[in-house]
Amino acid sequence: MTRAPALLPLLLLLPLPATAGGEPRAVDVICRAGWGGRAATRPYVKHTIVRLTVHHSGMLLRQNRAAPGRIRSAQRFHQSRGWPDIAYHYLIDLEGNIYEGRPTSARGDTGTRYDTTGHFLVCVVGNYDRQKPRPGQVRALADLLAWASARFKVGAETIRGHLQLARTKCPGRKLQKLITDGTLRAEVEARLEAGGIKLRLVCGEQARRLRAEGRSAATPRAGAERPKRLRAEGRSAATPRAGAERPTGLRAIRRRAHAR
Ligand SMILES: [Zn+2]
Repeated sequence: MTRAPALLPLLLLLPLPATAGGEPRAVDVICRAGWGGRAATRPYVKHTIVRLTVHHSGMLLRQNRAAPGRIRSAQRFHQSRGWPDIAYHYLIDLEGNIYEGRPTSARGDTGTRYDTTGHFLVCVVGNYDRQKPRPGQVRALADLLAWASARFKVGAETIRGHLQLARTKCPGRKLQKLITDGTLRAEVEARLEAGGIKLRLVCGEQARRLRAEGRSAATPRAGAERPKRLRAEGRSAATPRAGAERPTGLRAIRRRAHAR
């Protein structure tokens, strides 16, 4: 302690750690009502999160407008298996939009052999053996994992792909690679050092606009409200518009999703 004053001038010359004064960055999450989620069909099993686990949905996803329908289909399928709700805590679409799944206080579910107790479960919608994770998806995944890491005091070194825990191809080679080579962990740690992430739940019209971010200007749907873009970064003009919230639109999305 007595040497500290002598060191002080030297310390002042060192760059400040990135945490100094860093405010958490807000990241939007589409609430359950925002994607048409149904209520849980039975009580959840409570747990405490101690590790971070990445999944994919396994079905190729080429058009982002199909994503909300895929998530609703997954919820229906999971509930039909006797699970209370969609298996995951959060899901991510092609554009990097984040969707609210079951509460984090609820243990997840799996059709494979591993104990989901203590796992924070994120599912990237699509098949990442066959498609490549987009930069916006990786950003969203790192945002979510960084949030969970701080919220539950779980280190980024606990990040695993499902295939590291059970016999499965999930989350696909191209997504698993980012876990195995440390890319995702580094992204998460960088976010924590920069002040962390806070999640902001958005519902209703705001959620619809968020989902519609990737809508192509060339293909506005007749009668649809033109959504404002919340974030323009990384949005391709070729990306299809998001699904409309009207029931007829939803049915059409479901038909397309099931046709694959
Ligand atoms: Zn999985």
